[in-house]
Amino acid sequence: MNDERNHFPYADIIVDISHESVDRPFTYRIPRALQGKLQTGMSVLVPFGKGDRKRQGYIIAFRDGVSFDESKVKEIEGITDDDMAVDAILVRLAGWIRKQYGSTMITALKTVLPAKLKKRNLEKREICRLLSAEETEELAKRLAEKNRPAMARLLFALTEKERLPMELVKEKLHISPSTINSLEKQGALKVESVRIYRNPVISSMETAERKDAFGKDRPKLSDAQQGIVDSVLRDYDAGIRKTYLIHGITGSGKTEVYMHLIEGCLKRGRQAILLIPEIALTYQTVIRFLKRFGNRVSVLHSGLSAGEKYDQCERAKNGDIDVIIGPRSALFTPFRSVGLIIIDEEHEPSYKSETMPKYHARETAIYLASLHQASVVLGSATPSLESYYRAKHGEYGFFYLGERLTGNVLPEVYPVDLRQELREGNRSIFSRKLQELIEDRLEKREQVMLFLNRRGLAGFVSCRNCGHVMKCPHCSVSLSEHKAGKLVCHYCGHEEPSVKVCPSCGSRYILGFRAGTEAVEEKLHQMYPRARVLRMDGDTTKKKDSYEKILSAFADREADILLGTQMIVKGHDFPAVTLVGILAADMSLFAGDHRAAERTFQLLTQAAGRAGRGDRAGEVVIQSYQPDHYSIVHAAAQDYVGFYEEEILYREIGMYPPAAHMMAVLVTGPEEREAEYLAEELAKLSKKDAERDLTVLGPGTASLSKLNDNYRFIFYLKSSDENKLAQAREHMESYIQTLQKRSEQVQFDIDPMNGY
Ligand code: ADP
Ligand code: ZN
Ligand code: ZN
Repeated sequence: MNDERNHFPYADIIVDISHESVDRPFTYRIPRALQGKLQTGMSVLVPFGKGDRKRQGYIIAFRDGVSFDESKVKEIEGITDDDMAVDAILVRLAGWIRKQYGSTMITALKTVLPAKLKKRNLEKREICRLLSAEETEELAKRLAEKNRPAMARLLFALTEKERLPMELVKEKLHISPSTINSLEKQGALKVESVRIYRNPVISSMETAERKDAFGKDRPKLSDAQQGIVDSVLRDYDAGIRKTYLIHGITGSGKTEVYMHLIEGCLKRGRQAILLIPEIALTYQTVIRFLKRFGNRVSVLHSGLSAGEKYDQCERAKNGDIDVIIGPRSALFTPFRSVGLIIIDEEHEPSYKSETMPKYHARETAIYLASLHQASVVLGSATPSLESYYRAKHGEYGFFYLGERLTGNVLPEVYPVDLRQELREGNRSIFSRKLQELIEDRLEKREQVMLFLNRRGLAGFVSCRNCGHVMKCPHCSVSLSEHKAGKLVCHYCGHEEPSVKVCPSCGSRYILGFRAGTEAVEEKLHQMYPRARVLRMDGDTTKKKDSYEKILSAFADREADILLGTQMIVKGHDFPAVTLVGILAADMSLFAGDHRAAERTFQLLTQAAGRAGRGDRAGEVVIQSYQPDHYSIVHAAAQDYVGFYEEEILYREIGMYPPAAHMMAVLVTGPEEREAEYLAEELAKLSKKDAERDLTVLGPGTASLSKLNDNYRFIFYLKSSDENKLAQAREHMESYIQTLQKRSEQVQFDIDPMNGY
């Protein structure tokens, strides 16, 4: 099988487009006239079934032979140009995802299509009267006189309400099916099936609250906000569709702008998609949109059942809703005519899929927008380097919102040098400044958030005395400590023995950095026995809803201190929090991938932004071993541009995205030797391609060297030309297909968000 535009004689086609049916494609012959003209994802007309009825199908692959009687193969009749159908758009999107990120067409289709339901659709039967209330009452009286009490009872009930649920009629009114039947024959009523959609968000909301607030709570836009709305809509009306970036500090009114843009889009008769990271999809956010858009909006999130998700797709297809809010998969909502796609917190790594195809929601949204002729709006307080770079180069429109509209000011930030603390005899994880401020807040009964950055769990090695970090001599990323006393680079595979003394200052305090939230919680209890502490991390949020519960408890002031990992950085607003402590800001700095500084800056800026949301000013303590690292310095100053300028230099020199493109190739398998061998073969193959403008790094052991009994090997390709990477990937894919039975898996990741 192969799926490029080509001269193959056969094509695999799916006729019934649904998540399940993509596994059962049918093979058709390509007539001579169409050879070389077809492409995966194209929509064609084919004869189908016994009567050879003409149906629309989609090409998912090409093949050069069939394993059954060739004379039985039917022929494609022609290309259909029904390009605006929802299905056609999703199939084209899948085709693009496959081409861009690598995977099979089937996997790509399954990514964009909703899973069909095993369960039947939910239906509710209702009895509705066909006569007027008066006529019904008269009939009821006559039947009562004729001693037909059951019929009379039902009709009397129907004078009150035009429609009655079948269940109620049977169970509460004790009416038998034959009674209903005979009234139906008399033309007094009819039984109807009503499709019910599972819509958990809406049903859990108090309708009153939604209605009352409709239209209220609408601040007048500031000039800056209005300027953005006008400018995007003016472009839209002039037929200009493009991507815009809104760089706006937290609380600067981005969400308000989104709502106005969505309204503008709906007024123009089109639908809107708003992506939010799952973690920020809180009750507070959702309620703002429900108040504004009522029943026309629906929400997707991971807590929904497959049936509930499916129903939201159906509602979108039927035109029952025009706005969807959800994480990256909400992009695949089957709207007929999307006019606007908004991505909030566009820098979030969760916009990148972690399974094949590893698509990025931003890039995918931009392609989807081109199919629909829609505009794209990206928003963030800390834009990704990619987006800011493109905005600076004029590829995206750009807006800046620099003021908090609620009147409160940005917090005061105190950087603390943990090396200095150590030198002065404080070995605690809490600096003296932080201790002093925590005590002050406990006294004043204000709340504290403590943030433990755990992204660098892989264990970078740093000197507690001078801050020196062990780095790879080839890649300028930090080395990770492995059990066998080795330091390993996860980009190029470079290895060196562990160190006992710091090569920079000779101190013996050089070690892998590991600290857990649990240990910190224990310390807090020892130091502040009367303080009430809530802990939020991977362990305490395993159960469904626990995340929301912890945050609500804290919002209700059931605790004084909330201690947590990056999870606490987003979501609820806590007006009573006036102190944020960042315990070890450097932990994410040496996570061992090229985005480490960017992620650190983002996390610190966002964590700091949590202090002082209410009417009291906030303070932030940033503890680190490298207070002079640019990501920490600029985060402390809340200076995005300063950070960008330094970081982009590093990316340009190192040929990292966005200055170039990068592809991670991950090979995993149960046999260490064989997985490593395949990684080496693939890397060799790529090196052959590597004449110009393509660099191959590795392979080496992945940072996570073994997962679920599978060994992991990684290598990287870099090029300034994205097409070169796609070509190299296609060569690897063809090579993999020629291999006999193999147990290894190969994954491709374009412009990865995380290290491996
Ligand atoms: P962001 O999404 O940038 O964090 P929001 O849109 O949530 O900002 O706005 C932050 C706060 O400011 C919210 O409480 C919001 O109601 C309020 N707000 C937004 N726009 C205005 C405005 N034009 N006038 C007054 N308050 C506003
Ligand atoms: Zn040192
Ligand atoms: Zn290296």
